[in-house]
This record gives sequence, structure tokens and C-alpha cells, in this order.
Amino acid sequence: MLSFSAAALGLNLGAAPAPIVSRAAVSMGPIRVAVVGGGPAGACAAEIFAQAPNIECTMFERKMDNCKPCGGAIPLCMVEEFSLPPDIVDRRVRKMKMISPSGREVDVGRTLKEDEYIGMLRREVMDKYLRDRAVQFGATPVNGLVQKVEFADTDGPYTIKYTKYEEGTPKGTPAEAEFDIIVGADGANSRTAKAIDAGEYNYAIAFQERIKIADEKMAYYEDLAEMYVGDDVSPDFYAWVFPKYDHVGVGTGTVVNRPAISEYQAAIRERCAEKLGPDPKVMKVEAHPIPEHMRPRRVVGRVALVGDAAGYVTKCSGEGIYFAAKSGRMAAQEIVALTAGGSRLPTEQEIKDTYLKKFDQKYGPTYLVLDILQKVFYTNNGAREAFVDMCASDYVQKVTFDSYLYKKVQGNNPLDDVKLLFNTIGSVIKGNAIASPDKTFSNPVESLKRL
Ligand SMILES: Cc1cc2nc3c(=O)[nH]c(=O)nc-3n(C[C@H](O)[C@H](O)[C@H](O)COP(=O)(O)OP(=O)(O)OC[C@H]3O[C@@H](n4cnc5c(N)ncnc54)[C@H](O)[C@@H]3O)c2cc1C
Repeated sequence: MLSFSAAALGLNLGAAPAPIVSRAAVSMGPIRVAVVGGGPAGACAAEIFAQAPNIECTMFERKMDNCKPCGGAIPLCMVEEFSLPPDIVDRRVRKMKMISPSGREVDVGRTLKEDEYIGMLRREVMDKYLRDRAVQFGATPVNGLVQKVEFADTDGPYTIKYTKYEEGTPKGTPAEAEFDIIVGADGANSRTAKAIDAGEYNYAIAFQERIKIADEKMAYYEDLAEMYVGDDVSPDFYAWVFPKYDHVGVGTGTVVNRPAISEYQAAIRERCAEKLGPDPKVMKVEAHPIPEHMRPRRVVGRVALVGDAAGYVTKCSGEGIYFAAKSGRMAAQEIVALTAGGSRLPTEQEIKDTYLKKFDQKYGPTYLVLDILQKVFYTNNGAREAFVDMCASDYVQKVTFDSYLYKKVQGNNPLDDVKLLFNTIGSVIKGNAIASPDKTFSNPVESLKRL
């Protein structure tokens, strides 16, 4: 199964600049890299470091069977790019139902080709697979909760203080170790980000229930997911029903009115109640913050943040799994190349000029477009009605799916773009005519909280 080679993973070991930073330990032994966090960002970084010459990679994970609260939707391109085996994808969704505030349903998916789909998976399954793969490539796993990252100056070495857990013993013991490079992949509540004073970000709270439903009700969700919009289910996001292998995930999220998240969850449960049947069984309730934008500082010294720790979730879709895996891999590839075969340590500026520059160039437009779409279409019921109305267009469906599935900002048919503009105006007028006004709310203190 592990058929990756260094070339296939994009390692470019010969292309680094001449050594300018060195330390005794580089000539004495391998460069010590710590990856903090074993989610998609951490595991995908660790597997690159593990295969690089003269680099020792330690991957810290506080909970080896962690079950990250998540909808678990991934784009098609991730399956191939990250060589995910088919059996870790629970469902291949080929139909989406968009449901407006007034209950109008629009079916999306008819433009998909036969082999195209959105993957639905359980995070505990995917994360374990990626972690195990990193370990098979040579990363050293440490079951430990990183408590502190200390350094005398930004040049390191860095001391990681952590609580180490042994199998079968619930109580951990304090431990510490020194590293030359750290990749912070420890999610939205990142301690690595705090240690380097990476700056705060605003965040959404997302809530999800895993619900077991009767087989005949599950058959409806066989290859179908639903997205609900309306100020009853979220004032600034969407609510979802995503199918998993033997249950559905039903959830919602919000930034602007986080204290009301359970009211919004109750509303989505009400809206999909009939489809879930008379006896839905809640197996698990989960909630977690989702970053709203990138941290002000993502690289400090030789510490680089990736995934949610850096803030790489897109607005509008709330997607972060692919960007976490991709940023972990990209950061590791660039750092490995900069070490010139493990013979030198990179500088902060070099990491910024490579990893950050390339990531921002590649995905900056995607973040921008989705940010604008969220502001335009998720802020009032009239705009939400218009959004669902527009989803009936084949052109909108094709552009949306192509952008999501392949991670490129699409849309280059000028004639269709002009038609779309007029249709958008028509949809907004129509939407405003039928929509009920959004409820008002106020939470001046809580809404200022940042992560
Ligand atoms: C309810 C919800 C639904 C979502 N749905 C989707 C979706 O459908 N599709 C999508 O693409 N994205 C979705 N997201 C976003 C997605 O979950 C994240 O963007 C993604 O998990 C980020 O991956 P990561 O590796 O950066 O961080 P995480 O997945 O958070 O992984 C961080 C890892 O680090 C470990 N860790 C944390 N702190 C420490 C520490 N101090 N020491 C050691 N280990 C530590 C954790 O145990 C964890 O394993 C959703 C998020 C939420 C909350």
C-alpha cells in the first residue's frame, strides 16, 4: 500500500541554496524535527520529514484514537493526491440538495461526470490511516500532550515540554525534548501558535450530532448530502446532513452568534426531522472551533504553523481537511528542500519565501472568492433564497463542483458569466420578495472573544 517515493511526494532534495546557517549538531547528527499534532496536517507533514535524509521526525499526538469533530467531506482530488485507499471513504456523494429558508429544494449534481464525487469519511478512520502511514515511513510517534514550547531566542533549539502517556496507564508523566525545527499542526486551539505569539483569530463554533437512522431512511442518503440555509439554522453559515457509513452527521456553525449554537442545532434537527424518521438515535455529540482566517504570523524562527493552527479553513464551505493535509505536506517539502539533504538549518525568511509564498499564491484566490460569496449570500434570507435559486443553473453547478473537487478557482466562459450576472440580479430580487426578515440578536461581549 505504501507506494510513495520521494519523487512522487514532490521532494526536491537537490534544489536548496548553499548552507548559511549551521549548528554543531547538524554536522554531528540528524536535524531534529517535531511535528505537534497527528491530524491530517501533522501526519502529512510527518510522512515527508520521515523520508528525508538526515532528518529525524517525532510526531506528538495527545490522543492516538482522536475523533476530530468534523463533517468529514473531502474533495475528489484529495483521494488521488494523498493516495487514500478507497475503503476509508464511507460514501461517494453525487447529489446535493440545497434547501432555502422558505423550504425550496434544488438538486445539484447533474453536471458531475460518472467518476466524480465528494468523499464522506469518518475522521477517526482517515487520521489513523495517515498517522500509521507516517510511522511506516519512519516518523517516531509519541503519545503525548504538548504543554509548552520554550526557546531562548527564535533561532532555537526549541524545548518541547509534554505529558507522555504509556499504553494502559491513564496518568501521564512529564517529559521534555529538544528540537531544531517545529511544525505546529495542533489544530484550532494550537499551543504551538501561542508559544510563538502567532496572533489571534476569530472563530466559528461548529456543532454536529452523529445520528443513527432506520435503514430505509438511510437509503435516501445513500449518495446524497443536504445543505440547509436560513437564519433559523445559522445567521452566517449553513447547516448540513452528511451521510456516513452507518449514520448521518447533522450539524451547523456560526461565528456571529456562537451562544445560540444549540438553538441553531435544534432548528436543523426540526427541518430534517421527517427525513430522519420517527426514531433517530444520537450516537455522539461533538463541537469544535473553526478558524475564520489565517493567523497574523504563521512562521516564526524555525517554527511553522500548518492546517487549522495556521487558520486555513475556507469561508462559505468551512472546508479545512484538504488544506490541512496540503499545507502540512507543502511546509515539510519546502523545509526539507531548504535543509539541502539535512546539512543546514533554514532561516525564518527562507521558510516564509518558500512555504508561505507558494501556499498563498496557490490558494489565496480560493480563500478570497469564498470569503466574498459568504458575505454576499449568507447574510440575510433574501440572499439565501437567491443563492439556492442560482444553484439550479447548470453553469453554477459545474463551476462550483469543479472548484471544490479540483481546488482551482474556475469560471472562464465569458458568455455564461454575463448570463450568470443577470440571473444573479433576478434571483436576488426574487429572493428578497419571498424571504422573511432575519431575526435580530446581540452578543457584544462574547463576539469579541478570539482564539
Ligand atoms: C463540526 C465540524 C465540521 C467540519 N466539517 C468539515 C468538512 O466536512 N470538511 C472539511 O474539509 N473540513 C471540515 N471541518 C474543518 C476540519 O475539521 C479542520 O479544518 C481539520 O480537521 C484541520 O486539520 P488539522 O490537522 O489542522 O487539525 P486537527 O484535525 O484539529 O488535528 C489536530 C491534532 O493535533 C492533536 N493535538 C492538539 N493539541 C495537541 C497538543 N497540545 N499536543 C499533542 N497533540 C495535540 C489533536 O488531538 C489532533 O489530532 C469541520 C470542522 C468542524 C469543527
